[in-house]
Amino acid sequence: MSDEWQRVRYDEPSDGVARITLARPEAANAQDYLMLSELNQAFDRAARDESVRVIVLAADGKHFSSGHDLRGTTTIHDVGAIGTQCHFDAEGAEGYMAREAEMYVGLCWRWRNIAKPTIASVQGKVIAGGLMLVWPMDLIVCSDDATFSDPVVAFGVNGVEYFVHPFEAGARLAKDMLFTGRAISAQEALQHGMVNRVVPRDQLEAETLALAAHIAKRPMFGLTTAKQSVNNAQDAMGIYTAIQSAFGLHHVGHSHNRLKYDGSFVDPTGAQVIRSEA
Ligand code: ZN
Repeated sequence: MSDEWQRVRYDEPSDGVARITLARPEAANAQDYLMLSELNQAFDRAARDESVRVIVLAADGKHFSSGHDLRGTTTIHDVGAIGTQCHFDAEGAEGYMAREAEMYVGLCWRWRNIAKPTIASVQGKVIAGGLMLVWPMDLIVCSDDATFSDPVVAFGVNGVEYFVHPFEAGARLAKDMLFTGRAISAQEALQHGMVNRVVPRDQLEAETLALAAHIAKRPMFGLTTAKQSVNNAQDAMGIYTAIQSAFGLHHVGHSHNRLKYDGSFVDPTGAQVIRSEA
């Protein structure tokens, strides 16, 4: 059971539906390694439970997620690696790149490939790393107050580590979001096909669970193969190669910053730029 989890909750709100909820609203669901590890364990539990056909990812509080918690004290050694990356403490670019490959890109890609439909239920702000929980899901239902942004170009890197912006938002809007750092609205996300449905805030939970229950009436193998077929089409378009290419450039950015700014992985003026535009 989930009694040992501190950052996520797990329940089964209806037949065939599992719901994982980010449960750190006091920190706007900022993601430290502990949250990412518990989230991964919860996805595994839902994936392996044969009674579950659809997985919902929701969040407590006003905002879905403010991104990565860079002040988090949990290390990768505390939670354990899931993938095959190694040398997490190595000097230079090696250790930092391995940690981000493991805990960021690796987990996102793993969740994107879960053999069951997944639905994100999104309210409030989704900032930077927050997108990396929303985008790996198959469907996105959001409330009309939801906004989505990736402002990290201000920190001197190309964007968040799971770089699927062109696939999720289209190339034109992806560049707009990245160059300006602005937050797009739920309606703008809907117009560009980045989300499936926009609903009033007080109906978000009910609309998401109704959609999940509707999907859960279908046979598992039909759902699994439908998902796999769409994912295969994205794979044929080169999504994985594009992610890995962007991740390499992301680490050129981190290394550039370390050389230029006395060891800092990010441009230290970035926070000031973002705050001045808030
Ligand atoms: Zn990074």
